[in-house]
Amino acid sequence: MIRDIPFFNYPALYAKQEDDLLPIIQNVLRRGAYIMQSDLDTFETSLARYLNVKHVIGVADGTMALIIGLRASGIGAGDEVLVPSHTFVATAAAVHHAGATPVLVDCARDHLIDSADIERRINDRTRAIMPVQLNGRTADMDKIVNIADRYNLKIIEDSAQALGSKFRNRFAGTFGSAGTCSFYPSKTLGCFGDGGAVITNDDDVADHVKLLRDHGRSMNGEVIEWGYNSRLDNLQAAILNYKLSNYIVEIERRREIARIYNSKLGAISNILLPPGPDDSEDHFDIFQNYEIEVDRRDELRNFLLSKGVRTIVQWGGRCIHQFSALGLNTDVPYTESMTKRFMLLPMNTSLEDEDVHYICETIISFYSH
Ligand SMILES: *Cc1c(COP(=O)(O)O)cnc(C)c1O
Repeated sequence: MIRDIPFFNYPALYAKQEDDLLPIIQNVLRRGAYIMQSDLDTFETSLARYLNVKHVIGVADGTMALIIGLRASGIGAGDEVLVPSHTFVATAAAVHHAGATPVLVDCARDHLIDSADIERRINDRTRAIMPVQLNGRTADMDKIVNIADRYNLKIIEDSAQALGSKFRNRFAGTFGSAGTCSFYPSKTLGCFGDGGAVITNDDDVADHVKLLRDHGRSMNGEVIEWGYNSRLDNLQAAILNYKLSNYIVEIERRREIARIYNSKLGAISNILLPPGPDDSEDHFDIFQNYEIEVDRRDELRNFLLSKGVRTIVQWGGRCIHQFSALGLNTDVPYTESMTKRFMLLPMNTSLEDEDVHYICETIISFYSH
């Protein structure tokens, strides 16, 4: 029997929470509380408490969080910033819009930035490393912090996919001068539109972020520098407050799904799996995505589709070095070969265990003939 398994199911996720959400939305609208109101304060405080970090500052989206986080960390014209090629174009675009130059770095087998390759790219213009905590996994930050210390570089984390992920008990986004969140609807903590935040333990960076997100204005309305209109809507903050209260349960469910995938698919030699949720004590992964590398990728995807299982390939199948219009370096061999093999299996909390078993059995049957 064919099961219909969409890659992502927004209406089903909303339906589960509608009874709780409508009164929350109504309450905000009845108060007319739209911009920089108490729900935003509450959300920033609650998220900071969860992440064990001093400051969370809501901004318009995850891309603006990167731009503002870079600028507030002092990155600008003439600076080079090391960015993995296996990421959303927004990571490199943020470096560009901050006035600096992105330099691309290869990824390792876990699909995160390759720290050995970071070191090879450093020259006297290099000012920062921007690790991307991809798919919900935090890189080995001991290695990256060590490199940053030795070469006097800033770390600005693109932790858009890693809210709640940890390395050695420390949350993604809290290792450098700034980290970022995205509340894009498909992210693990998604709102009903665009949203983002900057995370920091540095009081000066936090003050600077608050200026930049609100037209460069200080508390008393004095314009101190050129800023942006980049605030997190109070309505979205109220929705996020509600969703944050159930977030730990959501993450545990994702880890449970990953556990099934890892145990059922682990024996197939044609597949490279991501590290499993219980593989290492150093890593706590939240599985924003479940990304695999496979032989005969396009054939497998078509086979799964014929059995009702929808998969996707991140970034439309192309990493940043492959967008020739951007004119960036292309010498990232592992990433290059990976783009012919990578894909995402369904990973979201509307999946039932039976769905996950069905997906695994379909993959097993594909490789057994
Ligand atoms: C989603 C995402 C962003 C951008 O976030 P938006 O909120 O969509 O602007 C940046 N980097 C990565 C790795 C992402 O996945």
